[in-house]
Amino acid sequence: MNIRIERHPAPPPPPPWDKLVFGKHYSPHMFKMEWRDGAWHDPRIEPFGPLSLSPAAKVLHYAQEIFEGMKAYRNPQDGSLHMFRPEMNVARFNRSATRISMPNVDPDLFMRALEMLVALDGDWVPPKPGSLYIRPTMIGDEPSLGVATSATYTFFIITGPVGSYFKGGAKPLYLKAETDYVRSAPGGTGYAKTGGNYAAALLPILRAQQEGFDQIIWLDALTRSTVEEMGAMNICFVYADRVITAPVQPVSDTILPGVTRDSVGVLVRDFGLRWVETPPVLADLLRDAESGELKEAFSCGTAAIVTSIGRVHHLGRDVTIADGKEGPVTRRLRETLCAIHVGEGEWHPEWRHRVPVLRPV
Ligand SMILES: *Cc1c(COP(=O)(O)O)cnc(C)c1O
Repeated sequence: MNIRIERHPAPPPPPPWDKLVFGKHYSPHMFKMEWRDGAWHDPRIEPFGPLSLSPAAKVLHYAQEIFEGMKAYRNPQDGSLHMFRPEMNVARFNRSATRISMPNVDPDLFMRALEMLVALDGDWVPPKPGSLYIRPTMIGDEPSLGVATSATYTFFIITGPVGSYFKGGAKPLYLKAETDYVRSAPGGTGYAKTGGNYAAALLPILRAQQEGFDQIIWLDALTRSTVEEMGAMNICFVYADRVITAPVQPVSDTILPGVTRDSVGVLVRDFGLRWVETPPVLADLLRDAESGELKEAFSCGTAAIVTSIGRVHHLGRDVTIADGKEGPVTRRLRETLCAIHVGEGEWHPEWRHRVPVLRPV
């Protein structure tokens, strides 16, 4: 399918790179197409602007929505633009779509849409440590209050520049192991990137932040004894010889299979440590932190990359991990990933997807 381009008549300049606020700035163009009568129609890039929706659109009532979060980076040497493992996001988007009873998007069309959109708004990709955040989204927009799969969909991609997630250096996180609420349960939608999962997490996260914690550690729904994720990121624990994290599909359907998590797993093995996917038992982790056997803990995801965890709270017990500062494995993973993102260093150049320059029209 051909993607047509309707250019913005007077694209505004991007905001100053040192004043970026996450999620608040949008590039001048968006990609859009609609699903009608069993097929996608009119794939196009057009000026960023509001959608037109019926108040009865299914997404507004029954949350038939999925999304992705990915980034494009600028190489400091030649200014070329790269996306990080975008094929992983495309594949995950379609797995989320299937779970939420939505049509899939042809991966080739999806990839061309990403390339064209990023190339067209290339001026909006900040230099490091900034990046262009990319948000593909699909909504069921059939106007009908019947609880059933929507007959129509809109797929769109918006982008926007973001700065470094942590201004003034990454402070190790203070986390609350959440024992009252759960994020996902076996048989649910935990592995899908769908808005409903986030809606359910808002209240517990707000409460934890009001109590003075940075974020929540989600525990498993059935026993509340093993660690699943942190907020909307995956979470890993570093021992002297291994790094452990919760397993994803096909072993468990409650964990969001992060692209960062997968990349960290490869790097951990490159660095000569074992990568162990087994449910981390919270009681063991706290005991090992107190004995000094647990060396480091970190969370990982596209938005904040790799972030050190300094202290964990569970049912009145407060445990500091090592000296509460970022450890060497966490730092090496963070620095290696950041270098790969912008195209520096020797590790895994195959993870960079170069954005082709748009032919002038
Ligand atoms: C997006 C997401 C992650 C991280 O995935 P990345 O692909 O690494 O960005 C982790 N957990 C949840 C719940 C998520 O939605």
